[in-house]
Amino acid sequence: MSTQTAETTHCGSAFVQDFMCQLENCSPGQAEFHQAVREVVTSLEVVLEARPEYRKERVLERMVEPERVIQFRVTWMDDEGEIHVNRGYRVQFNSAIGPYKGGLRFHRSVDLSVLKFLGFEQIFKNSLTGLPIGGGKGGSDFSPAGRSDAEVMRFCQAFMTELQRHIGADTDVPAGDIGVGGREIGYLYGQNRRLTNSFTGTLTGRDPAWGGSLLRPEATGYGCVYFAAEMLATQGRTLEGMDCLVSGSGNVAQYTTEKVIELGGRVLTLSDSGGWIHDPDGIDTEKLAFVMDLKNVRRGRISEYAEKYPNAIYHPATTGADGNPLWQVPADAAFPSATQNEITGVDARHLVENKVGLVAEGANMPTTADGQAVFMEHGVLYGPAKAANAGGVAVSAFEMAQAGQRMKWTREEVDERLRRVMAGIHDSCVEAARVYGHEGNYIHGSNIAGFTKVADAMIQQGLI
Ligand code: NDP
Repeated sequence: MSTQTAETTHCGSAFVQDFMCQLENCSPGQAEFHQAVREVVTSLEVVLEARPEYRKERVLERMVEPERVIQFRVTWMDDEGEIHVNRGYRVQFNSAIGPYKGGLRFHRSVDLSVLKFLGFEQIFKNSLTGLPIGGGKGGSDFSPAGRSDAEVMRFCQAFMTELQRHIGADTDVPAGDIGVGGREIGYLYGQNRRLTNSFTGTLTGRDPAWGGSLLRPEATGYGCVYFAAEMLATQGRTLEGMDCLVSGSGNVAQYTTEKVIELGGRVLTLSDSGGWIHDPDGIDTEKLAFVMDLKNVRRGRISEYAEKYPNAIYHPATTGADGNPLWQVPADAAFPSATQNEITGVDARHLVENKVGLVAEGANMPTTADGQAVFMEHGVLYGPAKAANAGGVAVSAFEMAQAGQRMKWTREEVDERLRRVMAGIHDSCVEAARVYGHEGNYIHGSNIAGFTKVADAMIQQGLI
């Protein structure tokens, strides 16, 4: 999926064309990064016209260039004594409003383009939360899937041996992402603590027993559903009784499903890289508990769901011209929660033909530019990733605050703050879109609202 990009959409004004032409020339072959920047630049043209100081100070040109990119070798030994060499990265994109903050992704598809797109998006997402966190992202082309716990530990220790030189509670605070869950955060944190001889809040997503925030695992999925509920509320609607499509079956998909069930919706699908399941009866809390054990403890495949629940049908993954059949299941709402570019223009067309009127993105950049255009054309309530999935990083920032104060907030307290942050993001997007003449458009709203705070901070701090 990640290889399929949205660079088919090359329309746009002369300003966007010129800007993208220069960017593509100086960062060739970084298709995902170009896709993420193109969307933002398209939204910002109107802002740059209204605020000439941004152009004069070349804020956008500075913002698309990471402050620092670190790439390093990670050497580790598997259980058979074979030596492996992987690449590690940390993209420290922008620290104008706070320490770099963003997850680590361990997946074979990771390269600089993927991490630059994720880091770039993170700048705006973190700004939207209203919390003092800058943007960064990192990871490796190592995939934990199929590796023993001991192998994952050795990899994490080797990775952190280099990364620890570049991070710190006031400098850069990584967290999880695809392939980096509680187990990996534990191994990474342990190695950082050993090497630095300090117990500080250098990583978030920690176990609550040793410094983590309650509700951090749930935060991205719950936050995404809260954002969806906010969008629906603008039309006087709720999730009650809605049939929902969820892709993925990892952290974000699981807690999205949990919150949809709690708010009275019905989740019909889940997936992994091997295929997807369709359960016409809906995934209830008992079935979700089975998925959580399958994925988080036994580390099995989603195909086992259909063996356990015979009314559900398993479909191996296909990549035909007619798109991903998961998005052809009739439903009211879609929550893409797996990976980038998983909804193409073809998929988006199937969704609108089936009357899906709400899309809230748990995954980062899951919809191609062609797909977004279809949603806009058909008036779909579309919550883009940088707004809809910001709940995870918001609770990570809460974890930093709790660690700094040696305090622990209750689950209810964190949930209440998360709800307020998601409602605040929603309102900022609506307001920014309205001010700049794009009423109801959350793509423009999120890009504009996320940009201005960082841009102003950069100007105030001088030419750096
Ligand atoms: P997990 O590793 O927990 O789960 C990822 C899920 O997506 C798995 O089911 C995985 O299947 C599937 N998947 C991953 N890559 C592919 C692929 N190329 N093709 C098909 N399926 C794939 O990750 P998360 O749930 O944490 O992350 C999911 C998305 O949410 C990502 O886009 C991430 O950036 C985003 N996100 C996550 C946040 C968080 O707090 N965790 C915060 C904000 C955004 P398999 O197991 O087979 O690989």
